[in-house]
Amino acid sequence: MLKVSSVTKYYGNFLAVDNLSFEVKPGEIFGLLGVNGAGKTTTFRMIMGLLDLSEGSITLDGKNIDYSVTDQIGFLTEERSLLTKLTVKEQCLFYGTLKGMKESDILKKLDSLLKEFEISEYKERKIKELSKGNQQKIQFITAIINDPKLLILDEPFTGLDPINVEQFKNKIKELASKGSMIIFSSHRMEHVELFCKKLVVLVKGKAVLNGNLKEIKENYRKKDIMLKADITKEELEKTKGVVEVVEMADEFDVKIESQEMVQNVFEKVSKCKNVTKFVVEEPSLNDIFVAKVGEAYEK
Ligand code: ATP
Repeated sequence: MLKVSSVTKYYGNFLAVDNLSFEVKPGEIFGLLGVNGAGKTTTFRMIMGLLDLSEGSITLDGKNIDYSVTDQIGFLTEERSLLTKLTVKEQCLFYGTLKGMKESDILKKLDSLLKEFEISEYKERKIKELSKGNQQKIQFITAIINDPKLLILDEPFTGLDPINVEQFKNKIKELASKGSMIIFSSHRMEHVELFCKKLVVLVKGKAVLNGNLKEIKENYRKKDIMLKADITKEELEKTKGVVEVVEMADEFDVKIESQEMVQNVFEKVSKCKNVTKFVVEEPSLNDIFVAKVGEAYEK
């Protein structure tokens, strides 16, 4: 298990991470989220043992993070770190050796991953000659070449087309199902929502949301009603309890204050013609994120 306990990081007098705690168990995909500058990279660097903590502790399976532990961590960082003049094979040999792997094991694993990602023909090609998406695949392969116990993925889908995003997602889920601990960071909430059962949202280094996604959604009082009927946006906006109405291509997303307000909207809509949809939904993670970050900035 990865255990981050009351971690604080100062750069000089600047507080970048403020008393942060969370745990990631084997098989879990954990979301570490925040706006730009919130402290995610700083947290990743501390977990990878690249930055000292000012206070608190970070342990992997009960051991403090040092060189013996970092061999078991794989990472795909936002600032891509490919050695572009090397060939794919040379790059993987370099990183695999750094992680303490035998050359024969690295080559075996590389062949199977290249095949899986359908890019075997690039093995002897220089990385700088590859397309951006294929470079991203190599970066990902490098991160998982040693079957890491803990895998850190910072914006892993940047630059990928939808088919490759699916391929990455499937691989990430497979790694988790085999027992890896995965920390996932993205500004794309729909990706986070799909993957992460647990998450933390940082604002100025402090957790403003921390826990189980299902509970976070249940505790967030606002709901959405997805609606199709002969009614105007203005009429809906006048209904008690309605906070906002978003007009979509062929339906309305009616954001309401709380579950108790559903009845008001229902009564109004029941008087309309052509009601073909009325579905009460949990708010999206994106809505919760925007609201929570907004509140934190207003404080
Ligand atoms: P992004 O999403 O933009 O990558 P982030 O959440 O990863 O942002 P960090 O890079 O961890 O944010 O930065 C957190 C804060 O710490 C920012 O205000 C940043 O300016 C500051 N910071 C980061 N590195 C240093 C450093 N070496 N010295 C001083 N301040 C730093």
